Amino acid sequence: MELNEAIAKFKEQNKLMGVYYHAMGVMSYDFETAAPKNAVAGYSDVMAKFSEITYNISVSPERFEILDTLTEHKDEIDEITRREAALAQKSLKLMRSISVEDYVEYQRLVNEASAVWHDAKVNSDYASFEPYLNKLVETSIRFGRLAAPEADPYDYWLDEYEEGFTQDVLDGYFDKIKAALVPLIHRISEKPQPDNSFLHKHFPAWKQREFSDKLMEVMGIDRRDCAIGETEHPFTTGFNKHDLRITTHYYEDALESSMYSVIHEGGHAMYEMGNADELDGTTLFGGASCGMHESQSRFYENLIGRSRAFTDLILPIAKEMFPEQLDGVTPDEFYRAINRSEPSLIRTEADELTYSMHVLIRYEIEKKLMHGELSTKDLPAEWNRLYKEYLGVDVPSDKEGCLQDSHWSGGGFGYFPSYSLGSAYGAQILAHMKKELDFEGLVAAGNIEPITLWLREHIHKYGLLKTPAELIRISTGEDFDPQYYIDYLTEKFSALYDL
Ligand code: ZN
Repeated sequence: MELNEAIAKFKEQNKLMGVYYHAMGVMSYDFETAAPKNAVAGYSDVMAKFSEITYNISVSPERFEILDTLTEHKDEIDEITRREAALAQKSLKLMRSISVEDYVEYQRLVNEASAVWHDAKVNSDYASFEPYLNKLVETSIRFGRLAAPEADPYDYWLDEYEEGFTQDVLDGYFDKIKAALVPLIHRISEKPQPDNSFLHKHFPAWKQREFSDKLMEVMGIDRRDCAIGETEHPFTTGFNKHDLRITTHYYEDALESSMYSVIHEGGHAMYEMGNADELDGTTLFGGASCGMHESQSRFYENLIGRSRAFTDLILPIAKEMFPEQLDGVTPDEFYRAINRSEPSLIRTEADELTYSMHVLIRYEIEKKLMHGELSTKDLPAEWNRLYKEYLGVDVPSDKEGCLQDSHWSGGGFGYFPSYSLGSAYGAQILAHMKKELDFEGLVAAGNIEPITLWLREHIHKYGLLKTPAELIRISTGEDFDPQYYIDYLTEKFSALYDL
């Protein structure tokens, strides 16, 4: 195939798939937020058909020929097309290494495992899920070996989610944070806890909706480009830089829950709204990786949102909306309540300090599973042992233990570390941003825009054009270094708990 023909066909295919993905995304958002319960059958049929169409475009001999031509001539094509082709090649590596039968069989396994996991979680019945998990582990090892015969299978999967991050890097990272944070968490658990009962009074959902509007206004989110809906679990989805959708969940007995979901998901949306115009309509629209996406959502949620400057800024606004519930609450009490740190069982509800320990536990378990050093039968015992050792908590049931996350039931081994890396990236980025901006002063004044513009210039505008490691270098001038994250947490929580 001629290079020019390959480029033209590549762009055409990407555009067509982009149209399908946009339609599927809108349908999925509608299904989660608005569709009635019984819509599920019709919805599934349509989605299956759409998936088949996009699958047939992306996994076809013609597509392979196009990509091979582009790869062969990669020095002759522009940067955007080159990166698009490289990422498409990468994502097809596995598909090109396994048979169609293997792929179909795997899809069936994942669908069954997900359904079984759902019931197993409800009933706290690990034994019913274990055979499926065992098969998923075996298949992931086998697929990893086929896709990258030269690599350790777990490294292959880690790189799928966070390009360039292997066990070598992650072992160093987790060893460091474990050594620093486990003792800190244990020391804090012996300290008296601040009162946060005022956050758990009655906060009507209709009033919280108005509060969400205020929060998005403070963040500087242009509502013409970003809508908000309500779902069981908050998420963000985006189709182009002028059409982002975030969701939240209102708990009437927990003000901070939706408050920080809105800020977190708003951070994800800001990332994609800040993509450069020339990436719109290309496959490079979005975020560089799961970890980099989390770094931005957590930047707004934690580094801005849980800072003293921000809680001081928000308290008067919150008091205006909820005068009775927050009557008499001082700025100091509000800040301490928002930042209360307590070892807990559920990852998604963990506070800023203990969060990465939940991820560390999953990383250690995945590593052992992927190397045959832990059988799926022994997983719950290992899980419970690690929770006791690192967080000091007893796990009362598998429902609140190893069955809590959906990732493994979908074959997602290697995804978890990106959640923790996001926080660590953010702390490093913040340290460098502070050399150029009066961060606290801007937040205290409610002037978030210069911060967003800084992130846009150093991170957001690149979309998927750069790797996470490259973006760290662009934004901080150095390589990834977890010490910033450790210093940030140590300083913040030592002050909060008078250590
Ligand atoms: Zn997130």
